[in-house]
Amino acid sequence: MTVHHLSSQHLIYAMGPDNAPALHVRSGDVVVISTTDCFENQIQSEKQEFGTLDWDRINPATGPIFVAGAEPGDILAVSIEKIDLDNHGVMTTGPNLGVLGDELQENTIRLVPVTDDQMDLLGHRMPINPMIGVIGTAPRDSSVPCGTPGDHGGNMDCKRITEGVVLLLPVQVPGALFALGDLHAAMGDGEVAVCGVEIAATVTVRLQVLKDLDWPVPMVFDNHEVMTIASAPTLDEAATLATKHMTHWLQAQAHLNLADSSFLLSAQGNLRICQVVDPLKTARMEISRTWVEKLGISLPDLR
Ligand code: CA
Ligand code: CA
Repeated sequence: MTVHHLSSQHLIYAMGPDNAPALHVRSGDVVVISTTDCFENQIQSEKQEFGTLDWDRINPATGPIFVAGAEPGDILAVSIEKIDLDNHGVMTTGPNLGVLGDELQENTIRLVPVTDDQMDLLGHRMPINPMIGVIGTAPRDSSVPCGTPGDHGGNMDCKRITEGVVLLLPVQVPGALFALGDLHAAMGDGEVAVCGVEIAATVTVRLQVLKDLDWPVPMVFDNHEVMTIASAPTLDEAATLATKHMTHWLQAQAHLNLADSSFLLSAQGNLRICQVVDPLKTARMEISRTWVEKLGISLPDLR
C-alpha cells in the first residue's frame, strides 16, 4: 500500500472529464488530501466585505486523482479514514442565501474557533461533527460546478459523509478523476443558512476500484447503516429517488418483491434531508446494516 499526499495547491472548481489529473494512484492506495474551506480561505475577519471576495474561487475541491484501472461502469469505493480540521471555521449568510434569504437584510460572517473536538458559537461550546461537503468523480459528458451535487457526487452536503464511512461513487471516465473539498466542522441536516461551519482540513482516504457491482450510487455505509443519496431539482424528487434507489437495491440483492422491499423501508428505513440550499436538493434513505445483512446482502469488505 502506498500513501500519497495531495496539497491544496491542486484545486478544481468543476468536476469534469477534461480535468488534468493532479495525482495518479493505484487501487488500494491511501491519499492524504489537504483542502481549503469553501471560500478558498478568503474570509479571515467577521468585518470582511462580501464584495471583496473573488466569487470565481468558491467551492473548490482538491484533485482530481486518477485511479489506475478505474473504467466507466466500475464503482470507486472511498474509505474515509481520517478527517483533521483546521483550528477555525467560518459561517456566512445574507440576502438570497439559504432558507431565510428572503428575510435577511445584510450579509453576516461568524468566525468559529474549533478546539478539542468542540467549537465556540454564540458564546457556547458545542460539539462538532466533521463531514465532507463536496466529494465526487467526474461526470461522463460535461463538467458540473463543484457547488452542484448530482449522480457523480459533488456538493451533496450530507452530514453522514464522515470519518469511518465508505462512500461508493460511480466511475464514468477512465481513472474516475476523484476530488473532494468543502469540509464542515459541523452541519445539521438541511444546511439551512447556506453553509456549515466551513473549514480547511486534511482528509485521509483509501481509494479502491470495484468491478462488476451494479449498485445505486452514491451510496454510503458504515458499521451501523447503509444509505442511498440522491440529488434533484426539488426535495420531493430527491426524496423519491433516494427511496427508489434503496428499494430497488434491496429488491435485487435480497430477491424481495417490490412491495416487501417497500414495506421494509416503510417500517425500518429513515428518509432524511441532506441539504436544501444548493442548486439541486439532496436527500438520503437510511436502513440499518443489521437488516441488510439479515437479508443476506454482503457489503464489500474493504479492509
Ligand atoms: Ca457545500
Ligand atoms: Ca460548505
